[in-house]
Amino acid sequence: MRHIARIEGFTCYIQDTRVRDAITIVLRQIKERHPKDFARLREKVRGFRWLPRSEDSQRSGTLGQWMTDDRAKNSAAFKEHVEKLARMEIARSYGFNPKSVHPEHVRLVADAKMQDRHTWPGKVAISRRLIRAPRWRLLAVLAHELGHAATNEDDLNTRFEEIGNSEWASEGCADYYAYRWGFGREIRRHSPERDFGHHGGLPGEIINPFNKTWFRVTRNFHYHPVDGPE
Ligand SMILES: [Zn+2]
Repeated sequence: MRHIARIEGFTCYIQDTRVRDAITIVLRQIKERHPKDFARLREKVRGFRWLPRSEDSQRSGTLGQWMTDDRAKNSAAFKEHVEKLARMEIARSYGFNPKSVHPEHVRLVADAKMQDRHTWPGKVAISRRLIRAPRWRLLAVLAHELGHAATNEDDLNTRFEEIGNSEWASEGCADYYAYRWGFGREIRRHSPERDFGHHGGLPGEIINPFNKTWFRVTRNFHYHPVDGPE
């Protein structure tokens, strides 16, 4: 179909040329600098699309969203993919040959993975309000949302244990990946104008998110408790 493009192997439902160019830049940079992250994104990200009209308003403030895709999640192809992951994981941790892993063991691990939202496929959705946005803002939003897609359970759990809040942990993970891929400057520039759902501290900042404990945000977006200002 004419209006669906393939960009670096990803499906793009967005027709706007500037947006497509920005997607190309982000994907190429991830592919060059972190091929393993890129491979993981290829497995999870089923495309780039506009936000649903009902959620795309000035008032909502949302510029981007990682939307898990229930239809893709329940597909036979996805189940097969998760079984393959489970088989490889078991083989690796027990030193088995992948072919000799017991099917029942595969089923148990695969079932647990199917429950885990960090393995679910989805799409990166962005707002039509980004059509006229400067390129740095487009890059910041795309890298951040792909960062949500790249986040795994370990990334989230360690940060959750530090800060005790899943939203802050999740935003830290997304920004961690965006920085890792080389979009730190864009994220920093975009930070003051981000909506409430995408707030998070940036490296070097001292934050006090719940008027309780002060934290310093490290280079890798970990949260270290520190003494607050008097
Ligand atoms: Zn976010």
